[in-house]
Amino acid sequence: MVKITKTMPKISRIFLLGFLLNTLLFPGVISLQKAIVEKGELRLFFSKAFNKKNVNHFTLKSPHREIYDFKNTRIAHKRVPLGLGQNVRLAQNKANTVRVVITGYTSSKPIAYQPFFSNDRYHISLPKNSSVLPAKRYKKPKKVIKKSKPAKSHKYDLVVIDAGHGGHDTGAIAGRKREKDVVLQIAKRLENQLKKRGYPVYMTRKKDIFLKLPQRTKIADQKKAVVFISIHANSVPKNKQNKIQGVETFFLQKTRDARSQRIAERENKSVLKGTTRLSRSVIIDSVLSGPKIVQSNKLAIDVQRRMMTNLHTRYKDAKDGGVRHAPFWVLVGASRPSILVEVGYISHPKERKRLFTPRYQELIANGIAEGVDNYLNNRKKEIDL
Ligand SMILES: [Zn+2]
Repeated sequence: MVKITKTMPKISRIFLLGFLLNTLLFPGVISLQKAIVEKGELRLFFSKAFNKKNVNHFTLKSPHREIYDFKNTRIAHKRVPLGLGQNVRLAQNKANTVRVVITGYTSSKPIAYQPFFSNDRYHISLPKNSSVLPAKRYKKPKKVIKKSKPAKSHKYDLVVIDAGHGGHDTGAIAGRKREKDVVLQIAKRLENQLKKRGYPVYMTRKKDIFLKLPQRTKIADQKKAVVFISIHANSVPKNKQNKIQGVETFFLQKTRDARSQRIAERENKSVLKGTTRLSRSVIIDSVLSGPKIVQSNKLAIDVQRRMMTNLHTRYKDAKDGGVRHAPFWVLVGASRPSILVEVGYISHPKERKRLFTPRYQELIANGIAEGVDNYLNNRKKEIDL
């Protein structure tokens, strides 16, 4: 599939890639909802996630000004103050460009970034001697955007749980058991486990229904999820059914490993309907680099480890298939750390029996929840530093 794009001229690939990514991930104009000064930074809050490539930074001379242009963005005027103290000015520079002007920098440079998990925000450091109006004055009366919170609270850490397949798409079938059923059961247990730990949860499906691929991943973005977890059960052809078993966690990345590729192919088949070959390969090419992969990898490691620790308390012979990466479509387009868990092999007679027991399902769900918790707590520590 990827070969098709390789034969295209580079320029059109880049163009297509940008176009597709923008239309897929960032449709429509973004509005700047709020601007405050906090902890020596100008903090901008947007209506939705955006690509930091949409920010154009440059400087103007005499007097020295640091300029940040936000493309495809409009100020929600009633809410956003146009001046924030003597160093910061905001303006609708062009119809679809918001300009931020920062003065007071002479020798040093501002630091600008999107905070972890908050692609709908943009922070710019202000000069040390910056005099600003107190942020409180500009607080919106109605709560729109989450504030920083103590490390233990996960009140705003929305987790999207995606039970694989559903409806006419049964997923793998073996011994008259269906993948779509076991993954929904585990997804519901995971929902409970996470809620117990104080996480808000969104389920892509709660019933036996079919969802198209964009419906699954778009939800993760729209709902401002911090992580996206897709749950599946694995399967191999009959001649191998007694040999292959175990639990594996995947994150999105191309792979040369034939086995991972086969698993991805099987899982991809059902979700790809309605997507053209070209758009598939362009999308996947575009998401194979960047910090999201690192984050997804870390999340996958935590989840896999906790699942195995849990399982081994009851099932000493549960096989640890480890963390792997493969190009799963369901993980493409989710702009959050995303993993796909293969909770066991429905094709393996012994494992199939276990998969449908409440005990096994609960151990898996508990393991995933612990992994998510561990991952997010560690992330928070890093952010706090
Ligand atoms: Zn599946």
